[in-house]
Amino acid sequence: MAYWWKRPLRMMRWDYIDDFSRIKNENIDTLVRMKKGKLHINCEWIVGTPGVSPGLGYLVTFYAEGFDRYPGFEDFDSLRTYLSYARKYGIRLLVYLNMHWFSYEFADAHPGWEKIMSNGEPYGIVHPLYGNGTTFCVNSPWRDWAFKLMEETMKTGVDGIFLDGPVVYPDCCYCESCQKKFKERYGSEIPKEDWQDPLWKAFIEFREDSMADFLKDAQEVVLRINPEGVIFLNAGSWQPGSWRVARDAKRLSRYQNFSLAEAFFHPSSGRINLYQSAMTTKYLRATGIPAVTAFHYCMGAWHYTFLPPEEIKLSVYQAVSCNGSIWIGGSTYRHEYKPEGCKPLNETLGFLEKNEDYLKDLESISDTALLFSSQTSRYYISAITELYKDLGSGKEQDLIVDLGTGKTVVDWSKRKLICENLMSFSYEGYFTALTRSHIMFDIVLDEDILLEKLSKYKILIIPDFACLSDEQWQVIEDFVKDGGSLITSFDAGLYSEKGELRFIEERLRLLGIKDIEGAFPAVRGENYIIAKEDIFGFDKGNLIERSPYALKVKPLERTYTPFLFMNPLERVYTPLKGESNFPAVIINSYGKGKVLYFAFPIGAFYGSDRIGTQEQLISASINYLREPIIKVLAPPTLEAELYRQKDKSRIILFLVNNTGDMQRPLSYINPVNNIEISIKNISIKSIYSVSNENYIDFKNNNGVNFTVPILKEFDIIVLEEE
Ligand SMILES: [Zn+2]
Repeated sequence: MAYWWKRPLRMMRWDYIDDFSRIKNENIDTLVRMKKGKLHINCEWIVGTPGVSPGLGYLVTFYAEGFDRYPGFEDFDSLRTYLSYARKYGIRLLVYLNMHWFSYEFADAHPGWEKIMSNGEPYGIVHPLYGNGTTFCVNSPWRDWAFKLMEETMKTGVDGIFLDGPVVYPDCCYCESCQKKFKERYGSEIPKEDWQDPLWKAFIEFREDSMADFLKDAQEVVLRINPEGVIFLNAGSWQPGSWRVARDAKRLSRYQNFSLAEAFFHPSSGRINLYQSAMTTKYLRATGIPAVTAFHYCMGAWHYTFLPPEEIKLSVYQAVSCNGSIWIGGSTYRHEYKPEGCKPLNETLGFLEKNEDYLKDLESISDTALLFSSQTSRYYISAITELYKDLGSGKEQDLIVDLGTGKTVVDWSKRKLICENLMSFSYEGYFTALTRSHIMFDIVLDEDILLEKLSKYKILIIPDFACLSDEQWQVIEDFVKDGGSLITSFDAGLYSEKGELRFIEERLRLLGIKDIEGAFPAVRGENYIIAKEDIFGFDKGNLIERSPYALKVKPLERTYTPFLFMNPLERVYTPLKGESNFPAVIINSYGKGKVLYFAFPIGAFYGSDRIGTQEQLISASINYLREPIIKVLAPPTLEAELYRQKDKSRIILFLVNNTGDMQRPLSYINPVNNIEISIKNISIKSIYSVSNENYIDFKNNNGVNFTVPILKEFDIIVLEEE
């Protein structure tokens, strides 16, 4: 049976952010017709309980037995009224329930519901939410109140609910209910933060389990009323800090219909990730349930003005090409005063609506798997102390180089943060390098480290840092023995799944390492790698920039070491000191497969510094280990994603043009011409460009070769198989 929620969805929440009750005065029929006909949505969110100061999440906009109405809704049942129009225009209706922001008054009337920090104080007193208000605990009796609200909501006949929260905030929760539940499970009081205490690590799991338990019970409430009803919450994304708020999208995916996370565009003083939408969507897809990537159509924190058209288009097209659905948050205010501002949505979502058939039942065609490990995010604190040295930015200005203090951070919490920051760069670095190199890859999660899952891939990449269980390590070893290839770097895999050291022979030998003598002194700048022969596009003797962090590794005999580290230099502008004996890259044959190991965190280095040689090392390594399925000759800012629609015998190639301004927010997208593409091992009848609405000439030659003459913003290339 085809569930509606498995189709490609164009979700929207279109708010009256200044006054929710204005909906009463609208001609709702006209409004919903506009949303369907002009904005081309097929699923809408409507507010059931608002996220409004001072925490009015306990007031409802509809008739719900036992709940008070939100001011302005005393005589108006917004859900039941709106639902009849949504049905008329074929729009699925989901209800937004605020589950994390409540007033102090409401909390005072319900002792025992608030989230409590390790110092015994309510979280909302120490950190007033949005300046005013508090928050409740998923393990407290508040959960029954929440389930009752969900039940009343589903009774209106809507298609499902989205829960905004609950959130297990940092340093939470130590309330009575949590203490009791923890003691039952672990026979002990809840510990305070201590990364060397196994009980603290158990508490990290306990927090995530508590979220999942809450969602599980909530789903039961929904399904009891409507067996096809949907439920989901903001699942959290790939960012390594997600453990702080107890979010793990994979763990939650068992009890919800969608994995949703935000990829909102915010103008900022720092660099903005060009692939934010793609990365979020691919990560969410990896959870195994439909992905929804959320964007808001406003200029960051300026919610009454629009985002530039190019930014919203880029976000939407990246998400769709990574096989996700989209959610867009907007405001009626903007539409009322500048209706033409919605034009990009009309165009983009209209195009997706018209071509929905090409977005259904996609199976990625990829040969490379990139691990995003949440157990590493939770527990990794590197044993390599050089990582904790304050190196400064390395920037030179007014004849002064910022070299930092050179002091080493000893505090464990701070070390954890440093590691998370590096992991974040590492994920972004590898993701960006692969996308720019037009390599077809999927993100895989800890739970996917199983032979039957990995066997679909030729290469597994474990980026820079990874905590892996003995079982997982064994699977990886077997994967390589059977002919797969592994790319890994720095101290990845040298920790257990709980972050305990595993610098052991059993693990090192797979990487081609005899032993690790230590680390080079951490220095930003002026340290190099040298190519020992013509390889990976480098000439013999070429110097390559080295990451501030690098390991002194002794390779096993019979390994291949085409790059060496140069001897370390203590500071910039000093003479070179020749080659060291330590390899920067080790290539190890193992069983029928190969392992390519970088003795430095190449992903994190590329992620933070974006030096082209690092991208070249990553992409050349992959091409060294396997023949690509698809070759795309185009600027790196062109993104290509390849899928098969099995039941339709066709291949779908999405092309997203990320070529635009060299600053954000984007104000234009520069068309790309003459994209040469070849795909191996397929036999094709026809190739059609959906955006250009024309057929493309091609040559069948042990695969297919063709040229896309022009790509403006986005295209769907449809290859009908013979
Ligand atoms: Zn609690």
